[in-house]
Amino acid sequence: MNPFEYRRADQPNTALQAIGRSRQSKLLAGGTNLIDLMKNGVEQPATLVDINRLAFASIETLPDGGLRLGALARNSDTADHPLVRQGYPLLSQAILAGASPQLRNMATNGGNLLQRTRCYYFTDATFPQCNKRAPGSGCGAVEGFNRIHAILGASPQCIATHPSDMCVALAALDATIRVRNEKGERTIPMDRFHRLPGTTPHIDTNLDPDELILSIDLPPSAYATHYHYLKIRDRASYAFALVSVAVALDLNGSQIRGARIALGGVAHKPWRAKEAESVLAGKTMSSPVFEEAARSALRNATTYRHNAFKVEMARMAIVRALNIAGGLA
Ligand code: SF4
Repeated sequence: MNPFEYRRADQPNTALQAIGRSRQSKLLAGGTNLIDLMKNGVEQPATLVDINRLAFASIETLPDGGLRLGALARNSDTADHPLVRQGYPLLSQAILAGASPQLRNMATNGGNLLQRTRCYYFTDATFPQCNKRAPGSGCGAVEGFNRIHAILGASPQCIATHPSDMCVALAALDATIRVRNEKGERTIPMDRFHRLPGTTPHIDTNLDPDELILSIDLPPSAYATHYHYLKIRDRASYAFALVSVAVALDLNGSQIRGARIALGGVAHKPWRAKEAESVLAGKTMSSPVFEEAARSALRNATTYRHNAFKVEMARMAIVRALNIAGGLA
């Protein structure tokens, strides 16, 4: 690990000044991903600014009836919070599908948003080709072992996937990310927070380098009754999704008033399947309708040598999650 300076920020401005002054400064919260990346040389910050003492760990109801999740609230506290379990159980279920209890006790909500891909060629700093780690070096995965890689929204420069479970539920629930720099606050809709790789795969998000995440805000939701997060992985725990699906239905009997579907493990960002949602809206729940929605979600899938299985896996996962959410399974 490279030598680095450690500082502790007791006020937001101290943290903002540090990251505003130098791109070589990184914020440290739970550290569950950043420290690993520093150990293997992928991340080499000159300064770590510890923000664990900032007062951004609360979970509270918003005036419009939505919910504010502090950026520094731990994943386990968020998943177990009564307001999350009652109003946004899909989010609770997704968080609990991720990592391990020990990691969830350390990992923060803000850090979960910013975790980086687990593409083998990215996390192994001795591998020469990775446009995300070393822009312009090429992509080792396109012609390499790409079993865990993207089937939607990829580019020739990068076919990595986003690793989070929490973020898949946040995408389905239309979350907004509240951020701040030294000039003021702004909000970023969840579907614009993470980026597709395009020609700049080294930039994961639309968070500016001088910005701090304050909270994740959830709008009032009609999706707290019929929901399911389905994660398919190589072992039962402590593994990233090959494919995951967050599904929520707003039902009137068997009529679908509205639907939310987001996929994980298939793209560079949590993948909201709005075409599939449109297929479902206004229909009566049935196997053919669920099948049609699943097919439409994957219509533009592109596969590589080792990951073609993901298309069928995702199709079946969507159908199964819809059946469970709708009470048909
Ligand atoms: Fe790097 Fe992306 Fe290619 Fe993986 S898929 S090697 S992260 S450029």
